[in-house]
Amino acid sequence: MSVLRGLLEGIGSGGIEVIDLTAPLAETTPILMLPEPFGNTVPFRLQEISRYDDRGPAWYWNNISTGEHTGTHFDAPIHWITGRTGDDVSQVPASKLIAPAVVLDFSAESAADPDFLLEIEHVTAWEAEHGPLPEGGWLLYRTGWDKYAHDQEEFTNGGHTPGMSAECAAYLAERTPIAGVGVETVGTDAGAAHSFDPAFPCHSFLLGAGKYGLTQLRNLDRLPVTGAVLIAGPLPIVGGSGSPTRVLALVER
Ligand code: MN
Repeated sequence: MSVLRGLLEGIGSGGIEVIDLTAPLAETTPILMLPEPFGNTVPFRLQEISRYDDRGPAWYWNNISTGEHTGTHFDAPIHWITGRTGDDVSQVPASKLIAPAVVLDFSAESAADPDFLLEIEHVTAWEAEHGPLPEGGWLLYRTGWDKYAHDQEEFTNGGHTPGMSAECAAYLAERTPIAGVGVETVGTDAGAAHSFDPAFPCHSFLLGAGKYGLTQLRNLDRLPVTGAVLIAGPLPIVGGSGSPTRVLALVER
């Protein structure tokens, strides 16, 4: 059987489960809020054009307004100053958008300490148990934070949300073959990362190395530790620094 036919038969029979890692996109979707004097993103918004009425008797449609970095979204290298000569979101090769994914589960640690930081030792201990991080794949960092995604205040938690240390970010960027890091929080960096050295190290090191970020994922608890395949589909916004993204995982059952 061809590989693609086998894939489709697997999906049809349930032998391959398709798990949606995407948060629903609505006006209530939490957004990052930066303090003065920084600029801020707008919330996601629908603006009705017509709904089976005199503005369009047989059709319903909306305009949308959104930031690039709203809800489940993709960070392209050009998002950060360290990656300013890198790819914008439309330039990310399509072949890189289907890739293996592994899950590092630190939900218990993050529940005990909302400022929990992933360290190099956590990653190397995980590798000793499960093997090397996947070449061209995603490190999905589970913190359990998806359970707060219904509420702006709980989700951003006054700036106390888990992330990774600067040393760990540099390690992942420069010493591992991953394509990027995916998280459940509002951004790939910790809530306190504005005070790290460098500030926002996950953005600084990963995007500077031409790698990617995925944020506000959910259902990571339904993925195996290794073996899932991730499909991430950001919009190819020309010149864009990122995009809301549908993220699906294929898992063999
Ligand atoms: Mn972002």
